[in-house]
Amino acid sequence: MSHTQKDNVALMCDVAELTGLFDSSQGLDAFLGRIISTVAWHMRAAVCSIFLYDPSARQLVLRANQGLNPDFVNRLRVAIGEGLTGRVLARRGPVCIGNVHSDPDYRVIPGLYEERYTSFLGVPILRKSSPVGVIVLMDPVENYFTTNDVSALQIISSQLAGVIENVRILLSVREGHAARSVPAGPADGGADPGGTYLVQGRGGGHGVVFGLSTRINHYLHASEEEAGRHNGLTEADFDRALAETERQLLDMQRTLRDRLHEAASLIFDAHVLMLKDDAFSGKIRQRIRGGYNPWAATVEAVRAYAKAFADSPLPAFREKVLDVEDLGRRLLNNLSPDEGGDGIDYKGRIIVAEEILPSDLLKFSVEGVTAILLLGGGQTSHVAILARALRIPLVFAGDRRLMRLPEKTPLLVNAQTGEIVVRPDPAACRESLERAAREKELPPPPADASPAALADGTRVRLLANINLQSELAVANRFRAEGIGLYRTEFPFIISNTFPTEEEQFALYIRVLEQVPSGPAVFRTLDIGGDKALSYFPLQHENNPFLGLRALRFTLQNPEIFRTQLRALIRTAAAAEPGRVKVMFPLVASLDEFIAARELALSCVEELRAEGKDCRLPPLGVMFEIPSAVFLADELAAAADFMSIGANDLTQYTLAVDRTNQSMSPWYAPHHPAVLRSLQRIVSAANRAGKPVSFCGNMASNPQMIPFLIGIGLRTLSLDPQRIPVIHDIIAGLTADGAARHARDLLALGRLSEVERYLAENAPPRTV
Ligand code: PEP
Ligand code: MG
Repeated sequence: MSHTQKDNVALMCDVAELTGLFDSSQGLDAFLGRIISTVAWHMRAAVCSIFLYDPSARQLVLRANQGLNPDFVNRLRVAIGEGLTGRVLARRGPVCIGNVHSDPDYRVIPGLYEERYTSFLGVPILRKSSPVGVIVLMDPVENYFTTNDVSALQIISSQLAGVIENVRILLSVREGHAARSVPAGPADGGADPGGTYLVQGRGGGHGVVFGLSTRINHYLHASEEEAGRHNGLTEADFDRALAETERQLLDMQRTLRDRLHEAASLIFDAHVLMLKDDAFSGKIRQRIRGGYNPWAATVEAVRAYAKAFADSPLPAFREKVLDVEDLGRRLLNNLSPDEGGDGIDYKGRIIVAEEILPSDLLKFSVEGVTAILLLGGGQTSHVAILARALRIPLVFAGDRRLMRLPEKTPLLVNAQTGEIVVRPDPAACRESLERAAREKELPPPPADASPAALADGTRVRLLANINLQSELAVANRFRAEGIGLYRTEFPFIISNTFPTEEEQFALYIRVLEQVPSGPAVFRTLDIGGDKALSYFPLQHENNPFLGLRALRFTLQNPEIFRTQLRALIRTAAAAEPGRVKVMFPLVASLDEFIAARELALSCVEELRAEGKDCRLPPLGVMFEIPSAVFLADELAAAADFMSIGANDLTQYTLAVDRTNQSMSPWYAPHHPAVLRSLQRIVSAANRAGKPVSFCGNMASNPQMIPFLIGIGLRTLSLDPQRIPVIHDIIAGLTADGAARHARDLLALGRLSEVERYLAENAPPRTV
């Protein structure tokens, strides 16, 4: 069989297809059976097997198989590291062998009839880095599987992990609890006093907005009388609502993919699975036939599912409650679209919730919510970063009265100050909104198209800080000369699972295509601190900012790191030499930088051996910790380039949590100790002849630009919207004048003196 026939495997065999295989499945084994025949067909392989991991026995169990003796299903057990399949799990990586008969680990299992197959390809199925199982392909043709096949099977396996988990959850809920009755919603405490009042929260972004409230994270509340209002509905109405809901979900999925390329993994997978599950819709139909009205039957089934998920001790189950309720609302809305019912069109609404996941935020953004109010903050503040990138106003407010608001309560939300006015006075509300609209207008693209330069002609490069790909257009609009900081963790944060190497590669290539010239500096994963992955629980830490974060995290999880480095190295090979650069966040020692570089070098060798295009990109150090400042000369000698992350450098130099609103008076990037650290780093770069750039928020602050230019920085990376303002400030400076300004500031030992000096020597065109 020719390999060209296998070429489009990755495209053909996607999650939608795999999810579709769970159409009212009789059980997990039947579902897995359908999967292996689909995968075997797409991969044109004679044998396909799925082993699932049994954590209590620490063994893999053959659960589905095509091409071998079926009697071994559920009987064949393999220990980690045992044979070729066990090796896949032990390595947590693919094993591809052209001829198994010459491999020392190969062992013949009498009666399995495996002997006639020569080629072997096995990849692990991992969820949150923990083993779910192994998928194995075999074929009689020697050297049958190519490197393309390895990638394709890895993509399939990453998608399978999520689908298998969802199916397992669904089946166990269905078997265990679906029939239980459900009490009324949880007690919230703190009653809504009615009338107009102010709730003070913590702002998480920009924007003043007005909207009607919608509470989520609660069981569908529906009274007998409400059910009575929907008495005329029939089973045919329910079937129509089911079909319409599925259509809407698929539509949203498409929109999400078009808008946010990072959200490659399916956000709505659990919804679709549940819709297709006969135990869910079948149960509702049964109740309808037994005389229940369809509306009440739907409410009952949704409540039962939500309760069963909520009661689970497993976080993965509890996270699905929101999905269940969301599905229920959609169904109800489609059952009686004109009545409103409890179903909700989220457009224009202000969501009130205890907590949400990044994937929920994406759903809401696609549906056009106006704002989000969260009762829980802290842990989820990566949601705030994402909300900013998506331009959704978000406020953290611990006031439980919000959870008691009747549906559709009018709210005025100021996401900057954190103020929430409940039932605002219409005139005051109009005035606030008009003022906000005036302030909100995006600055026009700069009329002056010339690149940034000082008054004496010295060039300064202004690059963009990018969190999500949707911001690339803004970078182009404001004429960024490239990307100085691409925070690669955001695609990880908004995914449901670790993006594969192929997914990352495709994402990074898109970045290059969208900003077609200038450097593209990719920062490797900065997870930990306030940025968590919902699918990869980190150990509890009392001080997460001082814990396993950024480079420490990736060095501790080399498989995750290698996958990203391989994707970046392949991206570098696809661009002009030197355009793609890679930098490591939170480097604390020379040893860490060297370890990271060695890992990158080994990835280059590995890719070369696989025959893939690759090029080691320039590797940089981010200066974000005081220890790196003291080692600036050594780090400058070792690195290809340097970048200053003053947001963290300020936090760690001054021992002030950058995310703690109440500590903001102590968070002073202009503190003399921070200013002197910046100067030391730039001097070390100059001594070593290495390029240095600056990517902290200070580069967006006109007041600090003369200092940054004055210590010799000529490349600044910032929020692209701020480029026009900073461009103008720079045009008003001379190199000599800025150097004098910096010298003056560096001589000051007191914060108050620095503040006075900055106030008296503000740049002429401060905005
Ligand atoms: C910084 O710390 O200055 C920086 C640019 O990185 P981040 O804000 O993503 O931590
Ligand atoms: Mg940082």
